Amino acid sequence: MDADKISADSIARPWLKTLTGLLLYVLVYYAIFREFRHVILLIAVIVFHECGHFLVMKAYGYKDVRMLFIPFLGAFVSGKSEGISPAQKSIMILAGPIPGIIVGVILFFIYLAKPNPLLFEGTVLFLLLNGFNLLPVIPLDGGQLLQTLYFENNVIVQISFLLISALVVVLLSWFLHNYLLLVIVLIPILRLRTLYSLQKLRRFMTREGINLNRAYEDLSHDQLESIRKKMLKFYEEEDEESLTEADNQAIRNLTKTLFKANTAEATLRTKFFFTLIWCLGLIFPLIALLYFVSVKQ
Ligand SMILES: [Zn+2]
Repeated sequence: MDADKISADSIARPWLKTLTGLLLYVLVYYAIFREFRHVILLIAVIVFHECGHFLVMKAYGYKDVRMLFIPFLGAFVSGKSEGISPAQKSIMILAGPIPGIIVGVILFFIYLAKPNPLLFEGTVLFLLLNGFNLLPVIPLDGGQLLQTLYFENNVIVQISFLLISALVVVLLSWFLHNYLLLVIVLIPILRLRTLYSLQKLRRFMTREGINLNRAYEDLSHDQLESIRKKMLKFYEEEDEESLTEADNQAIRNLTKTLFKANTAEATLRTKFFFTLIWCLGLIFPLIALLYFVSVKQ
């Protein structure tokens, strides 16, 4: 009975969080725009985008998939994956913006044939929001895609990319006079911190004679045990008895991260194909928006 209750709770809670977030979202946007039509349209475009990520994550067997709406910051879908190839991850990332851009392009052509204000608004929102998400900046989808395709195995390049991303967000918020965007800078900065401590752990492990160029799946029980011992040494955790199940899970996850980096790299075909889709996804919104700007003048 208890077990049933717990599992029912853990299923209900994420949805409750999603719905509360969504409600707060509606309220915040309503406070800003004061017009219900804008708000509904905006939220519809955002939900449509997030549903793309959500459905593909579910299809690829991601665990703990959750859709979260955080007022002022944005919406995102989180989930844990195991054994996802770079191509699958790229599909998951692009499943957010690309369907929205396709809808935007279709609306654009309908608008050209039969202009009306609602169609105009829908076209601009679908193209602008999804096109914006394709910009090559972490944590946006475009940045995540480039990271997956090109930088996953190179820490130095990753660090530079994160620094550039942080800088671009600062410049963007200054250029758009939207200082709320600065909150996004926190994400690259937090990632930099994670990368830094991971790099320190990698150096330590290499010094201790652990070969990191192996896949997690290939490690034997004894090897895993020895890695675990070294990790406890690194974190100066002497009292092994005091570790909780959560600590042990954290150690396992960290080990997976350490030995994952060298397992999969995107093939040339994958790189070419998804980079092409990314470029097209950026070009179409740009053409349509330039058209609107030129018509207005
Ligand atoms: Zn997205």
